[in-house]
Amino acid sequence: MTPQSTNPWSDDALLRALEQAELPSLLVALCQLTGDTSLIDPALRPDIVPSAGAIPPQGGMTAEQQLKAREISFCALRRYRDNGFSVAAEPDQELLQRLMSFIAAEADDTYLPLLSHELNIPEGVSDPDWNLAELAPGRQFRVAVIGAGMSGVAAAFRLKQAGVDFVVFEKNPSVGGTWYENSYPGCRLDTHNFAYSYSFAQKRDWPYHYSQRDDIFGYFSSVAEKKGLLDSIRFETTVLSAAYRATDSLWALRYRTADGEVLEYFNAVISAVGQLNNPMIPDFVGANKFTGEAWHTAAWRHDVDLKGKRVAVIGAGASAFQVIPAIASEVDHLTVFQRNAPWMYPTPNYLEAIPLELSWLFDVIPFYARWFRFFQFWTAVEGRRRFVTVDPEWSKAGSVSAQNEHMRKNLTSYLEEQFAERPDLLTKVIPTYPPGAKRLLRDDGTWARTLKRPNVALETEAIAEFYEHGIRTADGVEHEVDVIIYGTGFTASDFLSSVSVTGVAGRDLHEYWADDARAYLGISIPGFPNLFCLYGPNTNLVVNGSIVLFSELAVNYVLDAISGLLRRDEAAIDCRQDIYDAYNRQIDEGNGLMAWGASEVSSWYKNKFGRVSQNWPFPLIDYWSATSSVDREAYDSVPLRVEREA
Ligand code: NAP
Repeated sequence: MTPQSTNPWSDDALLRALEQAELPSLLVALCQLTGDTSLIDPALRPDIVPSAGAIPPQGGMTAEQQLKAREISFCALRRYRDNGFSVAAEPDQELLQRLMSFIAAEADDTYLPLLSHELNIPEGVSDPDWNLAELAPGRQFRVAVIGAGMSGVAAAFRLKQAGVDFVVFEKNPSVGGTWYENSYPGCRLDTHNFAYSYSFAQKRDWPYHYSQRDDIFGYFSSVAEKKGLLDSIRFETTVLSAAYRATDSLWALRYRTADGEVLEYFNAVISAVGQLNNPMIPDFVGANKFTGEAWHTAAWRHDVDLKGKRVAVIGAGASAFQVIPAIASEVDHLTVFQRNAPWMYPTPNYLEAIPLELSWLFDVIPFYARWFRFFQFWTAVEGRRRFVTVDPEWSKAGSVSAQNEHMRKNLTSYLEEQFAERPDLLTKVIPTYPPGAKRLLRDDGTWARTLKRPNVALETEAIAEFYEHGIRTADGVEHEVDVIIYGTGFTASDFLSSVSVTGVAGRDLHEYWADDARAYLGISIPGFPNLFCLYGPNTNLVVNGSIVLFSELAVNYVLDAISGLLRRDEAAIDCRQDIYDAYNRQIDEGNGLMAWGASEVSSWYKNKFGRVSQNWPFPLIDYWSATSSVDREAYDSVPLRVEREA
């Protein structure tokens, strides 16, 4: 190494780093850093064509644009270095809008507040603008949050900011929820990592584009620690029931600790129990006859060595899709029991680490990681929706519109390339349902390499039953195995199933829902005043945006609801039945027009009635608008100290 190359700020080193740079967001960051608006020359604006597959490299910038972008970025970096690393003043609103529109050119003005929230510029833009001590001095208001996963941590953070007294109840010994529980080999994000993080706790040093489980889990743990939330979390404490007492509008929470059961009262309850926390183990005939080991991906048995064993994995969804390649080389033989094949986005960098030079740039260029996160967020926002929206006139099987058919063709070609020399496998790996009807996965070629291994078999015959030594399929074949791994997913539509919840006049939540959970905005349910759900019914996202954003928006909405109560001297708010019903009709109509609602294929997006109870069907901006403030007309008010009939 030459002495010069040891200086990361030397001209040579800068040029090398720029080879690895993500350019659209770099130009914007450098413009903010230096105040030089020539960096966001419209001629360099990436024409981000939402594609059926992955986002094209550099957002689709041409080679010429990239060359020019590197040239002017190099000059800007040198100026920044030579001027003693001085940073321009915070951008005014006009400049901020120009910066955002460089990346999100097609966003109209309605998106700007959402984009500003995602960027967290100005710093703290979505912080509560109120504080309990000032807003309602002397008022006691305690909130119980159930769960310290991704949503619960976000709720705790905002409640703390607003000075609201709260307790988080967490059944596990740690925060992280699903990222704590799922530790199967190969577990990692399959959505882009930067966008899968809180706007209020952005991280510059993600090691991978799609980080591994330990990094994500570590992130949530460190947010909880750094934001001072740990003292407010009661770990290894399981909430058993929540009952609303109308006489004083308090919720009685019964929970179990190591020392026994406790009853405690709160003014509001926030459910942050998640959707993917209860493993689903199908009721296979003869399951109890199997004499080997069997476990679910979400409860990985790290004590069992798979080396040299014959293993069956049931399922080919997101979890199995990650486990299978991770264990294939270790086991003696692996049989994959696949009912439906997954569609997958070709994603060449899916397993790649972020290059060191790019990590360095994220570290030393102020705002760069933030704008890169924003770029990742934006490119996944509304663009892909069009590919999975139903055209009612479309009648071709296996797709729901011309655009969906186009997507199907692209994704099929990818599979055809990968399995060209294995026609026996190709017929099994091409899904029969429309892309977007089930979750799309990500692949860099690993799936095909794994299924083509000599010690791996892809079995598509239905499972008839388990027997003593393995699995018998419907064709009568016996598959002898030592271990069975259930990659069979979660009982996602059984919302809040682990807690008994009673509302006004003894209304039982689970009876009221009757296995068909709904909530106004995914948050409120009539007859359950001051019970708020995060990542509740119909708030899961399939192709647009990030669920972290949705949880943040729901949290902000709940904070707005609480501040409204305090301002008006109310005890509680209770969602109106007619509003709830009308809202859910819209949701159902919306989902009927999306691939996941129109298709009859099985998926965790639907409940046992076939109703899509998980997914949000509309553009992201609609949820932003609907949750940006509480529409008081949607709620009945419960006054303070006025008795209600219980
Ligand atoms: P899943 O997507 O629901 O997949 C379950 C799999 O088990 C499917 O292949 C399903 O087949 C199969 N299955 C279920 N019951 C069966 C039965 N009785 N017989 C045979 N096969 C059966 O569950 P998952 O893979 O755990 O993923 C759930 C969700 O968790 C994902 O969609 C994602 O949102 C999240 N997740 C995220 C990540 C990530 O970001 N890294 C990783 C893992 C999971 P069918 O398709 O035929 O129903």
